[in-house]
Amino acid sequence: MGNEEDEKVIQSVPNEQRMISFTFDDGPHPEYTPELLKILQKFNVKCTFFVLGECVERFPHLLKSIHEHGHEIGNHTYYHLDLTQQSSSVIENEIISSEVLINSILGVTPTLLRSPYGLYNDAVLDIATKHNYTFCHWSEYLGLEDWTLPGVERMVEMMLNVKMGDILLLHDAGGDRKETMDAVEQVIPKLMDLNFNIVPLGEMLKSCSLNVKGVI
Ligand SMILES: [Zn+2]
Repeated sequence: MGNEEDEKVIQSVPNEQRMISFTFDDGPHPEYTPELLKILQKFNVKCTFFVLGECVERFPHLLKSIHEHGHEIGNHTYYHLDLTQQSSSVIENEIISSEVLINSILGVTPTLLRSPYGLYNDAVLDIATKHNYTFCHWSEYLGLEDWTLPGVERMVEMMLNVKMGDILLLHDAGGDRKETMDAVEQVIPKLMDLNFNIVPLGEMLKSCSLNVKGVI
């Protein structure tokens, strides 16, 4: 897998079907999540949302809406703590309390986990493995840091550098996401013109299971 140091951490999913995945972290958010769902629906594109327990607790109807639109739900923990600074019991609680909440609303247990800030250590990976999660990072080389507000044009340009199997990290909450929304709306038709196949991360992982050494 992409990361030679730790094969448990998924950064890309090599495939020959021109698949890429868009992932949206930190939501759901009352303004941006519905706007994003509309944009994605317009292009009939399905993505993966790494949601936070604390946001799901506040906006359970938005979690339902994401799910009903056919997108995939991933676990991004409950309070978005730096897990590398927490005890094992706190790490476990951050993951499981979010999982239990998601399950109580959707009847679905997430299988993909992304840690806050992308930070992890052996304890985090061990706990993810123990609970049958695939630990998902992203294609960091793209430099897509939407939280720095690089501008719509620059974001589109960076996203057009994708390669097959890439995992794009974006956010639908946690700050001003207007640029992200606009960039996503502009880039999706361009990526489709380039014959990229935008699919949820879980789908990309499944279709490429032979190549992937995750914590599945
Ligand atoms: Zn996050």
